[in-house]
Amino acid sequence: MQCAKCGLEVPADAIYCPHCTGERKTTDRDVIRGGIKGGLIGLLIGLLPALVLLYIYGAERGIKAIAFITPFITFTTGLIIGLVKAKRDWK
Ligand SMILES: [Zn+2]
Repeated sequence: MQCAKCGLEVPADAIYCPHCTGERKTTDRDVIRGGIKGGLIGLLIGLLPALVLLYIYGAERGIKAIAFITPFITFTTGLIIGLVKAKRDWK
């Protein structure tokens, strides 16, 4: 079967053309949602060692900085991974 719109080969049992509609499967909102989800997971992952550090060493100046920066870094990493992952599902 051939798509009437783009002329590319489409599986006979396909309801819609994957070449035409494939890019619209994931919207910007989905990508943002994926990023937020990844960021939150990263935040949780980063908070755990930060809390453990605070618990073991107390809120000393250096520990406080690490406990603050670690979840921030993991949040950012998770956010990027989530965005890239959601974007990759797009295509
Ligand atoms: Zn098409």
